[in-house]
Amino acid sequence: MAKINIAGHELSSGKTIKDHIHVDGTEIHIPHIIICGEKPGKTVLVTAGIHNAEYVGIQAAIELSNEISPKDLSGNLIIIPLANRSGFENRTMSLVYEDGKNLNRVFPGDKDGSAADRLASLLFDVFIKNADAYIDLHSGDGYETLIPYAYYVGASPASDIAKKMVDCVNASYCVKSTCTTEGAYNTASMAGIPSVLIERGQLSLLPKDEVQADKEDVLNILKFLGLIEGEYKTYPKTELREFSDDAPFTGCWYPEKKVGDKFSKGDKFGEIRDYFGRPLHTAIADTDGVLIHQCSSLSIIKNGPMVTYGVIQKQDAC
Ligand SMILES: [Zn+2]
Repeated sequence: MAKINIAGHELSSGKTIKDHIHVDGTEIHIPHIIICGEKPGKTVLVTAGIHNAEYVGIQAAIELSNEISPKDLSGNLIIIPLANRSGFENRTMSLVYEDGKNLNRVFPGDKDGSAADRLASLLFDVFIKNADAYIDLHSGDGYETLIPYAYYVGASPASDIAKKMVDCVNASYCVKSTCTTEGAYNTASMAGIPSVLIERGQLSLLPKDEVQADKEDVLNILKFLGLIEGEYKTYPKTELREFSDDAPFTGCWYPEKKVGDKFSKGDKFGEIRDYFGRPLHTAIADTDGVLIHQCSSLSIIKNGPMVTYGVIQKQDAC
């Protein structure tokens, strides 16, 4: 069988590669780990830190890269623990430092574009395209609370396998996304690679139990994909269609619901006030749903995230 070559490395069974890859036309060097299993199997990619202040996923990826050995694996596991390195090293709130772009809105990228475009292009061409399956780890940013849940793209060629990967995530909800562009897992899904995005952890905090749960989700998906021996578990999911209400004003935000709360049409999500305490906007639900993700900082920014909620589509019987 022909040897796979990724990022200039020949993947020979039994070795672990730890290296950086330079993003052409920038100062960015992306760390990556490739664990080449002793037995043949699929090549699976795990990325974290596409949003650099989402720390639970980053730490889970670092720990997994040190805990999984080639003798445990059938196939290859590629881990990119910190995709947006310059954002991390300049402590942006998840934008690429050089150009202020959201890396997860520019896939599949442009090798002649600005830093985020070039970075996305490299991640897509060198790593994502070579994967048989893809897991992207996200968390709540410094201003975001969320409950754990997972996404897959409903209309993608590999959605059946992606849904089974989502079922391996220890969470109660999943979003069957209609977004087929711009995001890493969305673009990968449409290229035929079964892909999921896991959300776990919030407010740029790093609780050990969340990191552990993220690691267990990845290991469970790897069991399902046959990279690791053992029985995988499935967790029944309530499937959601996702909606977001962005903030209509910049100002101070006073949320009245917590993530995980179910709400009814007409319920109040919260209020935006000016710096004199005068109301600018009352956010009202225009449907029944469950709040999965919201801005939880006092600062809120016009056209930026305010509340993200799901409308229940169906509940798994499994
Ligand atoms: Zn994210």
